[in-house]
Parts: sequence; C-alpha cells; structure tokens
Amino acid sequence: MSDCIFCKIANGEIPSNTIYEDNDFRVILDLGPATKGHALVLPKKHYADLFEIPEETVAGAVKVAKKVAGIMKEKLECDGLNLVQNNGETAGQTVMHFHLHIIPRYKNDGQHILWKPTSPSPEELTEIKNIITNA
Ligand code: 5GP
Ligand code: ZN
Repeated sequence: MSDCIFCKIANGEIPSNTIYEDNDFRVILDLGPATKGHALVLPKKHYADLFEIPEETVAGAVKVAKKVAGIMKEKLECDGLNLVQNNGETAGQTVMHFHLHIIPRYKNDGQHILWKPTSPSPEELTEIKNIITNA
C-alpha cells in the first residue's frame, strides 16, 4: 500500500526507533506511548486488520510480541504488560495497517487499559452464545 505510513515504517522507508526486526516484522516504539517502552509489532506486508491478516502471520506477530515482552521485563523491569490490538474505527484503530501494541505496565503508571463491565442476564448470555455457535 503506497500511501500507508506503517508500510513505509515497516519496510524502512521512513526511519523509526526499531527495537526488533526480522524478515517478516519490525517492532517500533510508539510515537505517543501510553507508558515507557510502548511498542508496536508491524508485519512488513500490509494487512488492514485481524480480519485480513493470515493466521500464520498473526501467530508470528504474537511470537515476536512474546520475545519482546521478555526483553522488556528484563531491561525495563516493568511490573506487568498489556497486549492490545484494535480493529476498526469503532474499536479505536487509527492506523489501518495491522499492529499489535506491547504496553509495559508499571505500578502507579496512571494508565487504564480496561473496560467498564456490564451485567447481562443469564438468558442474554445464553442468547449471545447461541448466536455465535449457531445453537
Ligand atoms: P491504533 O489506535 O491504530 O491501535 O494505534 C495507532 C498507534 O500508532 C498509536 O498509539 C499512535 O501513537 C501510533 N502512531 C501513529 N503514527 C505513528 C508514527 O508515524 N510512528 C510511530 N512510531 N507511531 C505512530
Ligand atoms: Zn500498510
């Protein structure tokens, strides 16, 4: 995709703070980090989102994230870590090239990567299960 910024970054046409690279992925520091070390796993090939990306590529992205997570734990001494992956504008995706956020977490870092729980009835949960599983 010639006009995709993450294609250009992933393929080295635009410089970035790269913390890991292999044949298929580049991991860069996020320009607007939630916390110290917030990074993005970018596949070098363009896929818009989870719906488009092939299974083996998304599996590869998670493998890379695990490797980088271990390095972050050791080097940044984070207390925890969130993997976040947004798909579609409604879900908060702003760059339409698949990316996996690696967000190291620190005690009292002031971030809230959580959701507001709701309280569906058992019947509502059963109905949703039935829709998803064709029951
Ligand atoms: P999304 O909201 O699509 O899941 O996340 C996009 C992320 O990309 C944001 O966290 C944003 O700060 C980051 N970002 C956007 N443009 C650039 C860029 O040009 N370089 C880098 N390193 N990060 C970017
Ligand atoms: Zn792209």
